[in-house]
This record gives sequence, C-alpha cells and structure tokens, in this order.
Amino acid sequence: MTRTCAIDDCTNPVRPGRRICHKHRHRLARHGDPDFTEWTVADEYDVEIVVEQARPVEGLTRLERVMVGRGLSRRGLPAAEVARIVGVDPRTVYRWRREDRRAVA
Ligand SMILES: [Zn+2]
Repeated sequence: MTRTCAIDDCTNPVRPGRRICHKHRHRLARHGDPDFTEWTVADEYDVEIVVEQARPVEGLTRLERVMVGRGLSRRGLPAAEVARIVGVDPRTVYRWRREDRRAVA
C-alpha cells in the first residue's frame, strides 16, 4: 500500500514509516517550514525530477525555474518546450541560454 505525504495538497508517496515525502522532509530540515519558498532557494531533488520527467509543473521557485530550464536545455529540448514546462515565455529561455553562454565564455 502506498501512502501519500501528510502535507496538505501534496500527493507524493512516502516511504514506509515516514509521514511526509522526501521533498517536504528536505524543506523542513533545511528551513523549518515545509512550505518555504524563496526565489534564491532551489530544491535540487525537485529540479532533478522535473528535468527527468520533462512535464509542466507549478510551484517552482524562480531559481528552480532557471535550473530546470538549464537542465532541459542541456538535454536538447527546444526553447518553446522548455518554456512550456517551466511556465515562462520562450524569450526568457533564450535569455537564460545567452546568459549561460556568456558565463562560460
Ligand atoms: Zn510532500
């Protein structure tokens, strides 16, 4: 039987004997608040999952959007598709890519 996270609105499965999911445990441990979000904060676990699944998600922080956008771009997804998944304008994705190229140069 799969139980789900005790945090409201969270449908992530929990491991046996756990009350809340990995993501919320992580947030709680780091910030003392399972709903903590701030644009400078990124949950690497969330970012990984989103990049992996390449499916649109809500509730990402600003930094998470940038990190997901970067991850998806590295996987070769078209800018329009990256934009759809992270919920930004394609122009934003092009800007991120420009900034990344500049950072590397
Ligand atoms: Zn949860």
